[in-house]
Amino acid sequence: MNENLPPCPECSSAYTYEMGALLVCPECAHEWTPSAAAGQSAEDDGEKVIRDSVGNILADGDTVTVVKTLKVKGSPSGIKAGTKVRNIRLVDGVDGHDIDCKVDGFGPMQLKSSVVKKA
Ligand SMILES: [Zn+2]
Repeated sequence: MNENLPPCPECSSAYTYEMGALLVCPECAHEWTPSAAAGQSAEDDGEKVIRDSVGNILADGDTVTVVKTLKVKGSPSGIKAGTKVRNIRLVDGVDGHDIDCKVDGFGPMQLKSSVVKKA
């Protein structure tokens, strides 16, 4: 029994239970998603804002330009400043590597938002 479950929004029954991602009421058979229910303050669902090197807010699918040459293991030249990276994906990476992307000629990798600028 989870005492923290909210009562049924349909009939106010307190006997709700979890079934996977849903909450279920045994009395009226109502099913709903807990995120829509009040009282549950899970960690802020506001997304973390990720900004580029000059403060633009980045979003999934953006195209960015690398602003400084980056060393890449196994590549003599690395990723040159000015390289365009298309269709980035924001991630919760380690060490500030918050952009997941594919760089032409290098393949998939993670970059820091501090080394790119929105194109
Ligand atoms: Zn109910």
